[in-house]
Order: sequence, then C-alpha cells, then structure tokens
Amino acid sequence: MTDTITTDQTAPEVVQRRLVQTAVPGPRSLALHAEREQEVARGLGVTLPVFVEQAQGAIVVDVDGNQLVDLASGIAVTSVGASHPRVAAAVAEQAQRFTHTCFMVTEYDGFVDVARALNRLTPGDHEKRTALFTTGAEAVENAVKIARVATGRPAVVVLDHAYHGRTLLTMSMTARNVPYKAGFGPFAPEVYRAPSAYPFRWPGGPERCAQEALARLEELVLTQVGAENVAAIVAEPIQGEGGFVVPAPGFLPGVAEFARAHGIVFVADEIQTGFGRTGAMFACEHEGLVPDLVTTAKALGGGLPLSAVTGRADLMDAVGPGGLGGTYAGNPVACAAALAAIAVIEEEGLVERARAIEAQALPRLQRLADACDALGEARGRGAMLALELVRPGTTEPDPAAARAVAAHCHAEGVLVLVCGTHGNVIRLLPPLVIEPDLLDDALEVIERGVRDLT
Ligand SMILES: *Cc1c(COP(=O)(O)O)cnc(C)c1O
Repeated sequence: MTDTITTDQTAPEVVQRRLVQTAVPGPRSLALHAEREQEVARGLGVTLPVFVEQAQGAIVVDVDGNQLVDLASGIAVTSVGASHPRVAAAVAEQAQRFTHTCFMVTEYDGFVDVARALNRLTPGDHEKRTALFTTGAEAVENAVKIARVATGRPAVVVLDHAYHGRTLLTMSMTARNVPYKAGFGPFAPEVYRAPSAYPFRWPGGPERCAQEALARLEELVLTQVGAENVAAIVAEPIQGEGGFVVPAPGFLPGVAEFARAHGIVFVADEIQTGFGRTGAMFACEHEGLVPDLVTTAKALGGGLPLSAVTGRADLMDAVGPGGLGGTYAGNPVACAAALAAIAVIEEEGLVERARAIEAQALPRLQRLADACDALGEARGRGAMLALELVRPGTTEPDPAAARAVAAHCHAEGVLVLVCGTHGNVIRLLPPLVIEPDLLDDALEVIERGVRDLT
C-alpha cells in the first residue's frame, strides 16, 4: 500500500553534508535551552543541547543552520534515516484514515500485518505469535509477564551491564546505578544478576571468558536461585547502554541451551540490535541463536513509538484474553510507519548496508586503537560500533576521555553518544542509509578527537 504513495514535495531536501556555521550549540539553541530549563524537569538529560529544525537521512539540521552528521539515529531508532519518504507518506496516509481505535476495542489490519512481519523475520521457523506495545520497557515487562504465566515461576536472571528500561521492573533489571536507579528503589523483587561475558574486561582473559561466564551463570541459577524458580533469562545479544559489549562467542548459545534444559524461557532483548543494525536482521543470527521470546522496539517503528514481544506460540498464548495490552499498544499510525520501515530495510538492502558500514569503519577504528594507548578497544558489529577509552596502557575506564572525544565531535558537527557502565565508551549508531563519504568525514573527526587525547 505504501508503494502507491507519492512523497511530500514541500519538505526541502537536506544535502547530506556536514556544515558548522556557529559554535555547537549556537546562539538560538542556547536561548531555547534556557527556556527549556524553566519548563522541563531536570531529570530529562540531554547529550547535546541543540534544538532541531529538520532531519533527513543522516543529517540533523539545527535552528542555527548547522548540519550535524547523525551517528546516534535517536538511539538506534531511525535506521532507515530520519524522515524516510516512505515512512513519512505512510504516516500521513494512516493519520488521515484513522489515528487510534485501541486494538482491544476494535481491530485493524496494520497491527496484524506488523505481527505477521515479526513472526516471519525473527529467528526460528517455529510457530510464533506477536503482541505489540508502545515502548521498549513495556515489551521487556510483558516478556517477563508471559514467561511467568507460562512457567508458573517468579525469578528473572539478567546480566551485568544490562539495560532493559526505566520502569520499575525494567529498572530493577538494568545494571547501572547512576543515573538509572539511584534513589528510585525499592526495586522489583526476584531479579538476579550474573556476570556478562565481556571479553575486554574478563579477569581470566578473553579466551576463558565465554566458558567462565557461563559457569558463573549456571552456578547462580542452580545454587542461589534454584532453576525450578526461574521463569526467564533475559539478555541483549549485544549489550547497548552497558557499553556495546559483544559477548564472547559461545556464551549466549550456552545460556540458551542451559535455559532449555531447565525449562527456563530464554528472552533476547533485541530492542537496540534489531532490524539490520548489526549486519543481520537480528543480532541473534550471528551465533545461530533461536530465543523463545524476542523483544523489539527502537528501529521497529521507523521513528514512531512501537514495540513488540514475538515468540513461541505456546508461550505467547499462555496468557488469557485481557492479560496483555495497553491503550496505545500497536497504535495504527506507528504500525503504518513500521510496515514502511520494514519494507525499506528489506527492499533497500539495509542489512547489507550495515555490513558495509562495519567494513568501512571498524578496521579503521581498530588501527586507531593500535596507534592510541587511550583507546583500549574498538569493537562492534555492523553499524553498532564502539570505542572504549581507558587510562593509557591500562584497562582502567576513562570517562573523562570519552567526554572529551564526544565534546570534540559535537563542536565539529558530529553527533555521537557516550555509553558504558563506566561512561567511557563512545558509541556509533549511524542510520544504515548513511553515504560512505559522509561516514568517512565523520570518522575523520572522531579520529582527530582520539588522537588529540595524547
Ligand atoms: C532502549 C532499550 C530499552 C528500553 O526501551 P524504551 O523504549 O526506552 O523503553 C530496553 N532494552 C534495550 C536493549 C534498549 O536498548
């Protein structure tokens, strides 16, 4: 249906080029930010206090006329590029047909079409069902609810460096104290944490990481919690906020096998990694993982709020009618956007584009790590790449260095994000449609920022 829609010709084309005309943030952004401080709660932080005028493809235009190269994609959301014409047209058309009915009041086909697409695209060819929600945290909460009903067990096992959201349960599942948890307790009960197989930081070294981390998780489940009490093990196939941690190969397949042997539901949180980001439609595919349940959000809606739990039909259907839902769950405008975004990812070959981004950027960043002592490791998959900054010659995290590199990039018009439990990781999440020349230009800025550290 989206194919027949012509795109809105009134929006001016944004030339895909970096342009810095003022300080970043410029005077207009600074004035608007000062107003914001009078109106908006302080608890909502900001990476770069720049106000946006327009965004297209991989360029964000601010109110001072600066054009920033977008290596954030609104935190891995606009993988198809900002304001993709097919997404914008699908949204406009659906908004004119109807904006909302609530799927639990009266039904519409967009919801079913998104469910069908997710059942087709997620790992494994078993019979699946999907439930749509609005935010990522809601998807994770619902995956836990489903696992609890299906198993009749209470406990949830998560990993060090995990990020699963900001609601009470998902905040409890998230690892990092400041800023996500501090002061917000008491937390949800029955959440247990096992080590993450983080090769760069594993005490016994990267070779022993997978095996030792798996042994620690099994020990936790078998001796402290009791396998018969565990409903689900929830893991990100590549950890996002926690530092773009690519788990040691073999760890997650081992976890999934252990879960299966003990009747525990294995949930892959693909909210940040899904939809081509890592050079596969889902990051689980890199290790042939077939999770029982998969949570998705972020890139799913092409920029509109939409999330999902997809998984084994027997688990998903364990919850009776009325047990799952939400007023806005699977909003029809968000569903239209998702169908357009999924069509773009598949038809424009964006999974392959993510692999090309890795081939262009990762070797270059790894050479930089070899040359600069402050860059402990460059890692990642596809268009989910990270630089971990350390005190030169050690593995001690250096958050000040990460802030310095980010500040340099921002001043030069390259929008990067910082992440990691220690705040010492620069993460790159370009839209998958970014042009190679523009990416090269941004990488040069990043390189200079890292070299300037020493
Ligand atoms: C962003 C994120 C979430 C939470 O999604 P929200 O839409 O912000 O609630 C959960 N899990 C992972 C892995 C994420 O990256």
